[in-house]
Amino acid sequence: MEEKNKTLGGVLYLVATPIGNLADLSERALKVLSEVDFVAAEDTRNSGLLLSRCGIQKPLVSYFEHNKRERGEHIVGRLLAGESCALVTDAGTPAISDPGEDLVRLCAERGVPVSSIPGPCAAITALTLSALPTRRFTFEGFLPTENKPRRELLDELSHETRTMIFYEAPHRLRATLELFSETFGADRPITLCRELTKLNEEATRTTLGGAVALYSGKEPRGEYVLVIGGGKAKAGADDYPEDPAAHVEALMAGGLDRMEAIKAAAKARGLSKGKFYAMLEAAKTDGNGR
Ligand code: SAM
Repeated sequence: MEEKNKTLGGVLYLVATPIGNLADLSERALKVLSEVDFVAAEDTRNSGLLLSRCGIQKPLVSYFEHNKRERGEHIVGRLLAGESCALVTDAGTPAISDPGEDLVRLCAERGVPVSSIPGPCAAITALTLSALPTRRFTFEGFLPTENKPRRELLDELSHETRTMIFYEAPHRLRATLELFSETFGADRPITLCRELTKLNEEATRTTLGGAVALYSGKEPRGEYVLVIGGGKAKAGADDYPEDPAAHVEALMAGGLDRMEAIKAAAKARGLSKGKFYAMLEAAKTDGNGR
């Protein structure tokens, strides 16, 4: 296996850093951090501490949500001039729910090569602990804070069948759990992952109703990832009863009148109303319902 080992000028390195446990910093991350010309950090104080704990001294520039536009231009300018830069965010993998995403896009637009040094990511760590299906999942990050986009997203996710991963701040946890319970139902499984890789790491496997009850009695503390089981698939074209009369009856039992049920059954089968009606009549004469 050939390894990518050289730290090159003109390259942006996305360096994953620990989400709580310093021992999770990889050998390759250390090598890149000690070889680049400068480090761009979401919080220069935090990252400065991390670097000094590792015995690394590097010029640091800040790159965060509120200066990302002009600072992004500055960083890309230096990369185009041949310097190398390591981007580190507060914790975890840069570009996952942090402004690193914008810097990668800017580099792509300007033809600057980007290399990712993989490592800790809270979302994946939580997913692996969740005991929920991991084969198909969707990463949602933080819910939008404004009402309208949040409502629209939740409406969309109410049909989601894959496992869903959310980030949440402790001061919003209770309200978010209540919202999830209303949207997905109190029986839906959730794993609350707290303080991952830290001394007080927890993975609480419960239901949304159970989680709401749990936190009505205690104050959320620390960092959380919420992993929620997917819902049942919407009734698809293959889920209706084969017998056309039984199909109509099932829809009528669900509250439709006969004409509405015939229309809905025809639509589900991709047939015109007339064609489906003819099928119903034929089934009556056959007497076998098919
Ligand atoms: N880029 C990071 C990553 O790779 O996971 C995520 C950055 S995002 C700004 C921060 C959020 O990640 C926190 O609010 C929390 O939801 C989650 N998080 C980060 N570290 C965590 C930890 N040790 N335990 C639980 N959640 C964590």
